[in-house]
Amino acid sequence: MPGEITPTELDVQMTFAQPRHDDRVLLFVDGDGRKGSSREDAFLARINARGARELPRYADLPTNVEAIHAFSIGGQRFLLALGDVAVLEGFEPVGVRSLVASHPESEDLAILAAYHLRCWYRDNRFCGRCGMLLSPSANERALTCASCGNVVYPRISPAIIVAVTDGDRILMTRYAHGPYRKRALVAGFVEIGETAEQAVAREVREECGLGVKNVRYYGSQPWGLSGSLMLGYFAELDGDPEPSPGDGELSWAGWVDRRDIAESDDYALGRQMVEAFRDGRR
Ligand SMILES: [Zn+2]
Repeated sequence: MPGEITPTELDVQMTFAQPRHDDRVLLFVDGDGRKGSSREDAFLARINARGARELPRYADLPTNVEAIHAFSIGGQRFLLALGDVAVLEGFEPVGVRSLVASHPESEDLAILAAYHLRCWYRDNRFCGRCGMLLSPSANERALTCASCGNVVYPRISPAIIVAVTDGDRILMTRYAHGPYRKRALVAGFVEIGETAEQAVAREVREECGLGVKNVRYYGSQPWGLSGSLMLGYFAELDGDPEPSPGDGELSWAGWVDRRDIAESDDYALGRQMVEAFRDGRR
């Protein structure tokens, strides 16, 4: 269940205490940002003598780098470096996509969430209303404009992912573009003014030309790589079962029998939903 992959020990409440020397720090390095490129966004870490990944401590940072509290796990605090530090002696870049592993640790999920936060800080340096510099609020997770009073809060983009079923079959697709080329469920961002259930019906219609009924909520998952919150739904086919990929996003769409669903090393919500269907739990 999605609840089981959420790190319950991850405390997202922001604190404003002074950084401590042993706080861990997330230093992100920009990739080249091109679709399908191998130079992806990364964070700095090293492998310690016991073979475990180790993030830099606050004490490892140059003194001119500002760091802000991101999360805590248990008593361990994680800071986010706000400046551009592409190189830190003894540490190497680790691609953020490597975190999407089969059994992510709480720290992996925290780093993915920190990546979402970092993209928001990086992309909101200036006030979108008046163009002056924004600065972090002193009492909440927000950026404020001293010039016009604008307050900018972190942005989370809701997205839906839907398992459309027809008896013992489930609708799968394959994207035409981007790094992910395995079979996947239909998914897409919720548009302004739309309910999540309407987004489910629209995405299935746009991507596959099919109708759905009995749309039921399954669970949710934060997805920092795209700055979104994934909302998972099951739905039943309504009408003609022949998919016709329409808008160019997909290279393939088709039905997969419950018995032909293989194991996967992917922990994402969509995969959990496919396996719930395979195992007869949906
Ligand atoms: Zn402003």
